[in-house]
Formats: sequence, C-alpha cells, structure tokens
Amino acid sequence: MPIPKIVILGAGYGGIAAVLTLQKKMKAREADIILINKNEYHYFTTKLHEPAAGTFPHNKARVDIKNIINSKKVKFIQDTVLEIRTRERTIILKSKKVAYDYLVIGLGSEPETFGIPGLMKYTFNRWNINSARQLKEHIEYQFATYRNEPERTELLTFVVAGAGFTGIEFVSELADRVPALCKEYDVDRELVRLFSVEANSSVLPGFEPDLVKYATAALQSKGVDLILGIPIKECSKEGVVLANGKKIKAGTVVWAAGVRGNSVIERSRFPSVRGRVEVDKYLCAPGYENVFVIGDCALVIDREKRRPYPPTAQIAEQMGKAIGENLASMVRGNKYGKKAFRPVIRGTVASLGRQDAIGMIGRRKLTGYPAVIVKRFIDWRYLFMIGGVKLMLKKGSF
Ligand SMILES: Cc1cc2nc3c(=O)[nH]c(=O)nc-3n(C[C@H](O)[C@H](O)[C@H](O)COP(=O)(O)OP(=O)(O)OC[C@H]3O[C@@H](n4cnc5c(N)ncnc54)[C@H](O)[C@@H]3O)c2cc1C
Repeated sequence: MPIPKIVILGAGYGGIAAVLTLQKKMKAREADIILINKNEYHYFTTKLHEPAAGTFPHNKARVDIKNIINSKKVKFIQDTVLEIRTRERTIILKSKKVAYDYLVIGLGSEPETFGIPGLMKYTFNRWNINSARQLKEHIEYQFATYRNEPERTELLTFVVAGAGFTGIEFVSELADRVPALCKEYDVDRELVRLFSVEANSSVLPGFEPDLVKYATAALQSKGVDLILGIPIKECSKEGVVLANGKKIKAGTVVWAAGVRGNSVIERSRFPSVRGRVEVDKYLCAPGYENVFVIGDCALVIDREKRRPYPPTAQIAEQMGKAIGENLASMVRGNKYGKKAFRPVIRGTVASLGRQDAIGMIGRRKLTGYPAVIVKRFIDWRYLFMIGGVKLMLKKGSF
C-alpha cells in the first residue's frame, strides 16, 4: 500500500504544533510528512512587538525549523505557497508542485484593510521578522533624521492604529523605548508623540472593565495619547485622517487594527469570511474530509457567545495538536478515532511594556509584575514544548 502523504502548510503556531504531534505519534515510514514554509525559521508572532520596538533582539524571536523537527520523520521544504488545487490534490509553490493525500493549512493572517485608502502603501502593516527589523530601523532613522531637520517635528510622531492586543503591546513597548532613543539622539522627550487610535470606545476588547481601566491609566502614564471611538479614514505620506476630519501628521503609522486569513485561501476558492474558512468540528474545510484549516485561517464559532473565537496563538496551537492527533488516527485507518475540536481558553495576558501587563487566568485577574511573570511563563512553556530546556534558556526573556 502506498504511504499516505500529509502536507502541512505554514510553520506558525498551528503548523508547528501539528508537525510536532505527528512526529511524536507516528513511526518513520507510516506517512510522508512534509512541512512547507516561506522561511527556514519559525517565528514567535506573539513576541514581534518587542523586536519591532527595538527592545528585544529579533533573533530571539525565531528558531530554525531544522532544530525543532525530526528530519527522519518530517521533510521540510522552504518555499512560498501560491495556490491549492483541491480537485487535483496539489499545492502550487513558487518553484514546484507538491501532491497531497491529507492537507493542513496553517498559513496565518494578513492585514485587514477595511478599504481604507493608502493603508497598504503608507503604513507598517505586516507582522513578521523582516517587518519587525524594518520597523525598528525606521524608528531609529526618524530620530536620527530629526536631528538634521529639526523643523520636521512630525518625524517624532508615531500613530499606532488599533488598540487590540497587537497595537497596545507595540505602543507600550515603544513608549518604554522612547527615553533611551531620546537620550541616544539628543531629542527632547516632550517632542515625541505616541498616538493609539481605535474605532471602538475602549482599549483591549475582551478584558474585564477594571483591567481595561488599569491598562488605560498605564498607557496614559507612559505618555500615550488615546484616541478612542474614532476610526481612521485615510492614510497618506503625511500621516492619517480620522473619520471626524482631524489630521495627524506623522512620520510613522503602524497598522494593528485587524487581520484576515491568508490570501491563498481566497485564491484557492475556499468558501471564506474575510479569508477565514468556517471549519467543522474536526477542523475540515467544507466539502473535504482530507483538508484541514487551522490557526488564523480558520473560523471556529464559540457556540456560547455566538461569535467566532478570536485568532490567537493559543487556539492555533491547540488546533495544530488536535489535527496531529486526528491525522495519526486517520492514517492508521481508525476513522472513529477522530476527536472533535474544543478550544480550552486557559487565560489571556497582554503586556503593557517591559514591566507591566494585565491578564485573566481562569477567573483570576492579574495586573503589574505578577502578570508580567505569567506572560513570561507562557513564553517559557512554549519554548520548552517545542525545543526543551535548551531552547527555553537560549530564546527566553529572563
Ligand atoms: C504583535 C502580536 C502579538 C500577539 N500576541 C498574542 C498573544 O499574546 N497571545 C496570543 O494567543 N496571540 C497573540 N497574537 C496572535 C497570534 O500571534 C496569532 O493568532 C498566531 O500567530 C496564529 O498562528 P498561525 O499558526 O495561524 O499563523 P502564524 O503563526 O502567523 O504562522 C503562519 C506561518 O505561515 C507562513 N506563511 C504565510 N504565508 C505563506 C505562504 N504563502 N507560503 C509559505 N508560508 C507562508 C508564515 O511565514 C508563518 O511561518 C499576537 C499577534 C501579533 C502580531
């Protein structure tokens, strides 16, 4: 009998969890397991706000895929996925085609533009290692340029669009770095302006009101100007225009106001909502028993709250693990060994810079340093899980 071919697209939180589970559960010749990813490394998206603000080395936010997979069981292909042809059971990559029997799609997200003119052209809107590196360099360049062109105070104005997880974690991190930047480039702190602009009426939706209040006060004490309840209407070379007509001249606009599923989903004609495929309880794409969608590309409805679960690393990881276990069962011919996916939300922690955070772990609310420690513990646990103590010591924040 031919050996079934399992192909996993994307080495993010979901894809890596799927691969690690499969390599643990399966013997070497039970299936051909192939992982395809754009880069030769897996990066920790949840840490990217730190290298982007320049407070953490970008190298510590990634790990070589070859160091975490078992090459006797998993073949790694570094390439870009262009399209999936489900009828032909084939994936079109930039350099070749790959066939599959079982497919797991974990290609993550792309920025949601909401049709806002200028957004893609004039903002920093991608969250990956290269973009984080570029944003860090850009921020430093703004400070350096201002010293030579002191009439251009807008160089020292930074607008962060979106006050959800990504936006708040980034703006807090940047606020923490500003004093050091001012010292390095001899800039008066009073001239630096940080704006967090949000269409909703509060920051960090999903957190309890008292935690939101704590976060709001923490941001204000760091010198972040919060503009809430007003969406951005337009982005341009000069900055942003808000829906109320107010213009903010800024040398840097960072987009963190929403994501959609990877464009490969729409290009491959899967039925989707904002690029996310509504999967069944086994994470199958509608109409396919052998195609699974996980992480930010998948839409899973929280039946209790009657709305989709938010795209998070926590859920992506759980989906990857679940799909790894189900695939191991299916490949062995155990059709009934499949388990329905049920996310377990253990808690959520949002950092507010180097020394502050808020979090909810079960029903417990945390603020300040205890929340920072829990956040670090979540990172350490993840590093330990994918690469043991060695990786945890090498890449963790201590
Ligand atoms: C700054 C920031 C902070 C965050 N903080 C948290 C947090 O604290 N907690 C939390 O739970 N969530 C957090 N999130 C959200 C979380 O990071 C995502 O939900 C999670 O990364 C989704 O995992 P994924 O496996 O779907 O995709 P990803 O982890 O994004 O991985 C997708 C992978 O696919 C690859 N890829 C993409 N397109 C292609 C292609 N065409 N061809 C080949 N490879 C491709 C990418 O290079 C990447 O390796 C944060 C996100 C950001 C940006």
